[in-house]
Amino acid sequence: MEPVLVIGAGLAGSEAAWQLANRGIPVRLHEMKPNKMTPAHHSADFGELVCSNSLRSDQMENAVGLLKEELRRCNSLIMACADEHRVEAGGALAVDRHAFSAAITEKIKSHPNITVVEGEVLDIPEEGRVIVASGPLTAEPLAEAIGRRYPQNGYLHFFDAAAPLVTFESVDMDSAWFASRYDRGTPDYINCPMTEEEYDAFWKELTTAQEAEVHGFEDSGVFEGCMPVEVMARRGRDTLCYGPLKPVGLKDPKTGKEPFAVVQLRKDNAQGSIYNIVGFQTHLKWPEQRRVFSMIPALKNAEFVRYGVMHRNTFLDSPRLLDRYYRVRTEPRVRFAGQITGVEGYVESTASGCLAAMELARELEGKEPINFPRETAMGALALYISDESVVHFQPMNINFGLIPALGYRVKGKRNKNAELSKRALEALDGLDLT
Ligand SMILES: Cc1cc2nc3c(=O)[nH]c(=O)nc-3n(C[C@H](O)[C@H](O)[C@H](O)COP(=O)(O)OP(=O)(O)OC[C@H]3O[C@@H](n4cnc5c(N)ncnc54)[C@H](O)[C@@H]3O)c2cc1C
Repeated sequence: MEPVLVIGAGLAGSEAAWQLANRGIPVRLHEMKPNKMTPAHHSADFGELVCSNSLRSDQMENAVGLLKEELRRCNSLIMACADEHRVEAGGALAVDRHAFSAAITEKIKSHPNITVVEGEVLDIPEEGRVIVASGPLTAEPLAEAIGRRYPQNGYLHFFDAAAPLVTFESVDMDSAWFASRYDRGTPDYINCPMTEEEYDAFWKELTTAQEAEVHGFEDSGVFEGCMPVEVMARRGRDTLCYGPLKPVGLKDPKTGKEPFAVVQLRKDNAQGSIYNIVGFQTHLKWPEQRRVFSMIPALKNAEFVRYGVMHRNTFLDSPRLLDRYYRVRTEPRVRFAGQITGVEGYVESTASGCLAAMELARELEGKEPINFPRETAMGALALYISDESVVHFQPMNINFGLIPALGYRVKGKRNKNAELSKRALEALDGLDLT
């Protein structure tokens, strides 16, 4: 059998190579390290954690905890190495990063079905099966080649400027209402009004809140054309009221008047379970985002499923390019995996590599696809990134908002999430994962 070419031995690429190789499929895994390093990678080992050593929550009441458990049940290499090298971190799964990467490298290099090839890949080859897992800092020549190859179907963003996302059910609709400006079209926005007093307090905190660190490789050009909300706020007390918080054409049904300021939320997925805060791309630290944005009365109990980020990131417009198997719709011999597909985070990147490889193996073996259902975290993530109804695609962490509701009431959020996880694992256990 012709080997599958996997580009990049990060979290997604290592996991994909492992899944294929364990099913008897030969793999050529190309990695440019250590000859060429991205600005965030420093070690020659595979599966390097470029920043935090935490893989986030390991609890079933948290969607990323569920995703981990699903990966374990899929015999994930990354999860096995993480569990083996975990360090105490409360309810989170943190790892000894060096031992973790060394273990991944050893397993990959000693696998009889994997050939590791050192060196940079400059383009997608014209023949054969390929999984591109070159990450958010994909080397420039390959990134350019991908952009040229799929000009109509997708494009690469070179930085990620995302506003925070909140769940619909956490928005206080007693303090907000649905409408579009001047009642034009359908009432698609949730409007969150603020009095002058509330706005002044919010504006003061926004202008003085702590910003996240800027990495050395993220020059100021990154932020061109997409001004963070806190930078706009610093231009003057009224600037936001003429920008993203302008109240014109939005009469509060409770008072019949335009409020002093209005924050708008726009639907982020077809189901309407997740909303983004319009115009709130931000570079504030995550706890600061929660503190300051919760001062908007309708968001006082908001559940943030993703905080705003502004960093360099190379990712595809996947809803227009990929299918639920992370396969290029117009060229199905090519798949993408990892952060480059617009999944966000270590565990999510691993999960996409795992699913892409498992489904590719099924295809090569002439079997029906597994079709991870939306009730599972792995399925929900893949269905989100390939959902054509998502117009303004931004990278996405796994969260329960992507998974269908239970259809019955369970008291308490933790209990409800635990129930969603239980249902997901039952669904997963019913699948043929060979
Ligand atoms: C600065 C930064 C900090 C981050 N911090 C976190 C965090 O704390 N927590 C979190 O959950 N997520 C974080 N992320 C997001 C993301 O989860 C990680 O980037 C994750 O490593 C992505 O996994 P991946 O397998 O897609 O890519 P990577 O792990 O980056 O792997 C890609 C691999 O491909 C190689 N490569 C690139 N181009 C080529 C080429 N042309 N030829 C051959 N090899 C190539 C690279 O050397 C690398 O080894 C961060 C991202 C960045 C950029």
